[in-house]
Amino acid sequence: MPCSATLCVSAVKGLANDRRRTTNDGSAMKIDILTIFPDFFRGPLDYGIVRRAREVGLAEINIHDLRVFTKDKHRTVDDRPFGGGAGMVLKPEPIFECLESFGDVMAREVRLDPGAKQSVILLSAQGRKLDQSLAAELSAVERIVLICGRYEGVDERISEHLADREVSIGDYVLSGGELGAAVIVDTVVRLIPGAVGNQNSTRQESFTDAHCDSVAKSVELEDGPSSTCVSGGLLDYPHYTRPADFRGMAVPEVLMNGNHEQIRNWRRKTALAKTLRNRPDLLERALLTAEDRELLAQIKRAENV
Ligand code: SAM
Repeated sequence: MPCSATLCVSAVKGLANDRRRTTNDGSAMKIDILTIFPDFFRGPLDYGIVRRAREVGLAEINIHDLRVFTKDKHRTVDDRPFGGGAGMVLKPEPIFECLESFGDVMAREVRLDPGAKQSVILLSAQGRKLDQSLAAELSAVERIVLICGRYEGVDERISEHLADREVSIGDYVLSGGELGAAVIVDTVVRLIPGAVGNQNSTRQESFTDAHCDSVAKSVELEDGPSSTCVSGGLLDYPHYTRPADFRGMAVPEVLMNGNHEQIRNWRRKTALAKTLRNRPDLLERALLTAEDRELLAQIKRAENV
């Protein structure tokens, strides 16, 4: 198979995808990245949670150099666009052949089914925008293939016949899909159960839509007061650490008085205030309680919104 051992290795040498610990069903999430710049990934996947997830066998990440799947002596991966115009387009053959070399990627029709356990994603500015709910959806998938475009983009037949979705990381144009792939890996891997030391912390974060009650209770028990509940789709509340007074900038008193109920209320109110200020669009679909609505009304009155 052309996907040689040297090119299917982890992006970072020495970071064997060992399996000292595995996901609930006993296997690591497998992520394959197809790129013409494999060295790009030396670094981004070697720090923090992603590194740890690889080390403990929660995630196995392989980088594949598309040039290995070319047949000419110049290892050509791109060509001029039909119909004319500027720039070059990534050819379909190396991408199809790389994916086919894996031998275990399900047919596209199967991957298109809701709840499918594999996904082949084309990074594209024209794709569905990545958000926390898409990251959560992908964190339940067992196998993800990420195809990185370059130049003017990728031959459209990849999107039409090989990938099951196109994903954009935001409304701007990057030079290539590699940064987007690294962003997807980071946001998805940290949601794999066990990847983050305290799983409750990912449930409380900005954008997280989980339902308040059950999670809030467990957070409360283990860690003291939560942000009243999980974020419910709001932005996260502000965090502070020592020193309590830094150059005259004091930490809010309420966070140091040990009163869990007051801290909980403060966190919820500041999360609401920050969301109103920076991302009012999120309030339209956030899970708000009657208490939240009252707090929001207070904030609006105070801020003359
Ligand atoms: N001609 C394309 C367009 O206008 O949509 C832009 C091509 S871009 C210069 C080259 C590659 O970068 C794309 O094929 C895609 O893989 C990647 N890319 C660019 N912007 C992206 C974004 N916002 N999200 C994900 N990938 C992106």
